[in-house]
Amino acid sequence: MNALLKPENFKPNYSLVKREVSKIHDQFSIEDPPVNPAEIAEGLGIDVCFVEFTGEHSKISGFYDPEDNTIYVNKHEFPLRQTFTIAHELGHAVLHREWARGDGYRVLMRDDTTDLGEPHEKEANAFAAHLLVPRAMLDVYHPGLSEQDLSRLFAVSVPMIKNRMSFEYGL
Ligand SMILES: [Zn+2]
Repeated sequence: MNALLKPENFKPNYSLVKREVSKIHDQFSIEDPPVNPAEIAEGLGIDVCFVEFTGEHSKISGFYDPEDNTIYVNKHEFPLRQTFTIAHELGHAVLHREWARGDGYRVLMRDDTTDLGEPHEKEANAFAAHLLVPRAMLDVYHPGLSEQDLSRLFAVSVPMIKNRMSFEYGL
């Protein structure tokens, strides 16, 4: 195999991520916040199951299982975290279905930062960010609203709003 094609050289492709997210917004005529990633997943034929993770698994936020095309979400986490988890795992389902079958794939853990630099994880996080807080909606709603207001409106965390504002407007 050409060395450049090896997975370790895989780089995040953010324009592909944005294209895939735009297709989904168009397909489901999503124009106003909040964006519901569970509805989108179901619309794409991907099941979303809220489950109990116990013992050593209790810190799992969620994961995508390509075998049964299902996103499993920790039912005990806060709704905002669940929304992010579903959007992130939906990113893997849409972008990385084959990769998610392999050894490189990791479940999403609460408070875990070890995989932040991994290219597939970067793509899944970018997918979640653009899916839940689209630029076009930010353009409409961000003037005059505080980060807290935007967090409530978009049903995402304040850090997510800060990241999106910084990314789109350099604020
Ligand atoms: Zn992930």
